[in-house]
Amino acid sequence: MTFDFLSLVKKQYRTVPLEGDFIQPSKIEGKEQILWVGCSDSSVEETDVLDVPREEIFVHRNLGNIISNGDLSSESAIEWCLDLLKVKHIIVCGHYDCALIDKGDGSALGGWHKLHELNESHLSKSDSSLNYECRHRKLEEVYVLAEVDWLKRQPSVRRAMEEEGLKLHAFVYDKERNVGYRLVEEQ
Ligand SMILES: [Zn+2]
Repeated sequence: MTFDFLSLVKKQYRTVPLEGDFIQPSKIEGKEQILWVGCSDSSVEETDVLDVPREEIFVHRNLGNIISNGDLSSESAIEWCLDLLKVKHIIVCGHYDCALIDKGDGSALGGWHKLHELNESHLSKSDSSLNYECRHRKLEEVYVLAEVDWLKRQPSVRRAMEEEGLKLHAFVYDKERNVGYRLVEEQ
C-alpha cells in the first residue's frame, strides 16, 4: 500500500449508492466477466452487491483488498483475468470498519496499523473538518482508490482498457447499513 498519499487524499470523488444492476449479467455460461478484488474479513458476498451470477465473477481476496502488492497470487489473478478470461470489469471493493486497519496493534497487523495511523494524522492536519470516524471512512475509500490508481498504471491493464474496453471500478461497502457505494472520480 505504497502510494502518493497527499495527491490521493486530495482526489475529488463522489460516493454514489451502488445499484445491483450496475453491471448486467453477460449470460454466457461459464464465462467470468469480472475480476473482484475484495477483503478477506468483509462478510460481503459479491452477489449481495451485484445482480450478477456468481460464476461470472472471478474472486481474489486478501486482507485489505490489495492487488498492488506484487505477490505471485495477485499478479497471476490479473494475468489470468486479462489474458485468459478477458474480463470486462475489475472491481476493487473495500469496506468500512476493516479489521486490517482498525484492530492492528503490536501483533502481525502492527505494520498496517502504523501506516494507517500515520495517514490518519496527515489527514487530520490537512482536513480538520472531519471527525475521527469520518477520517477512517475517508481513508478506507482512499485505499480503494489507490488500488484502482495502481491498476490503471499497469501496462497490461491500460492496454485492455484501450483495446478491449476493460473498465475499472472502486466500490466500498458499509456493512452496518448494508449498502454499497461506487467511488466516482471527478474528471
Ligand atoms: Zn477488511
